[in-house]
Amino acid sequence: LIVPNHPIIPFIEGDGVGPEIWQAAQTIFDHAIEKAYQGQRKVAWQEVLAGEKSFNANGSWLPDETMQAFKDYLIGIKGPLTTPVGGGIRSLNVALRQELDLYVCLRPVRWFNGVESPLKMPEKVNMTIFRENTEDIYAGIEWQQGTAEAQKFYQFLSQEMGVKKVRFPQTSAFGVKPVSIEGSERLIRAAINYAFDNKLPSLTLVHKGNIMKFTEGGFKQWGYELAEREFADSVFTMQQFDKLKKQQGNEAAQTTLKHAKSSGKLIIKDVICDAFLQNTLLKPEEYSVIATLNLNGDYVSDQLAAMVGGIGIAPGANINYLTGHAIFEATHGTAPDIAGEDMANPSSLLLSGVMMFDYLGWTEVGQLISRAMAQLFQQGSATVDLARFMSNGKILTTKQFTQAIIRHL
Ligand code: NAD
Repeated sequence: LIVPNHPIIPFIEGDGVGPEIWQAAQTIFDHAIEKAYQGQRKVAWQEVLAGEKSFNANGSWLPDETMQAFKDYLIGIKGPLTTPVGGGIRSLNVALRQELDLYVCLRPVRWFNGVESPLKMPEKVNMTIFRENTEDIYAGIEWQQGTAEAQKFYQFLSQEMGVKKVRFPQTSAFGVKPVSIEGSERLIRAAINYAFDNKLPSLTLVHKGNIMKFTEGGFKQWGYELAEREFADSVFTMQQFDKLKKQQGNEAAQTTLKHAKSSGKLIIKDVICDAFLQNTLLKPEEYSVIATLNLNGDYVSDQLAAMVGGIGIAPGANINYLTGHAIFEATHGTAPDIAGEDMANPSSLLLSGVMMFDYLGWTEVGQLISRAMAQLFQQGSATVDLARFMSNGKILTTKQFTQAIIRHL
């Protein structure tokens, strides 16, 4: 990306705790930019509306101008949005992702010293999840039980496809799981490039190919084929390892693997999703970059976030690496139970901002913010959601947390 020194960045403040955490985040971003570049660079933040605030102002949950701003300015950042219930309005987040074809949901998972974790050695966690964002069972192709559509689909399955496995046709609901080669490849390609850019040791394809052979199994197979075809000189795959083992024995395969690792090749491996979830608790150090399909990715993202402090601190981004479009966002919801109480944790939005500045190449800003947060957590100072679990935790309000970060920049 070629980034001007004074870019316009649209932001959606968000509902519930959104205004509080946005105010905290923007104040910190501006201070960190000033500190890093002393007036040479500055962001012109442009508020765009969505969610409840937008609905109350102009009757639209997601106005065209908002979508247009994200299209025009390429990147943007957002707080959480209330999902309108009923009325045929789909999730606003899903609408944004679909409209801009943001096919990667990127979720880095790192632990800050001082933050309570259920793991014995959380310092070993350093993973980045690439979750496919547009396909899979989440495509929303499903039919309710008892409807004419569900009946029609059942007839198609039983009569034209010869499927005899549906035991209760009258009362069955149906869903379709589309997974394409193109959709899988662009996700895995982005994950491999990310691993190279950040000098990371491995990429793991997480799947349920043992049960869903053509969709999840396809994802795994296409991933290996893509890696061996497009990155032949710089990767070593466990598929190549298995072939070598069959042809030349275990010792030769192990030697080649060792050599590949020591010469800095990216190791591409795969694991079944349930084993992966177990392993991440027992030996998280085995994983670095993760690529997975939409549904697995949803579960995996939240479990891994819980291992390092929960969604209050887990950042995220939705990215289309082909067009450059990206929206960085807090991963939690609007937290209506604590809205307006000056107690929300802005860390998720802050760290999403760190990802955004890294994406722009303004890495100094992200480093300043991450370091300040790390110092604060190490002292045991945090908002109540984290501080109550810390030994000698000092509870800060959102405003106090903001001021403390600024002091530490
Ligand atoms: P939630 O994430 O809002 O809240 C779950 C729990 O986590 C609550 O106890 C809340 O107080 C706490 N929490 C969340 N964020 C916090 C923060 N920053 N600091 C401290 N505590 C925090 O989930 P929910 O209650 O299921 O959903 C509420 C609304 O948010 C719904 O309308 C839902 O659709 C929406 N939602 C939006 C997004 C998004 O915009 N990305 C994501 C999830 C849910």
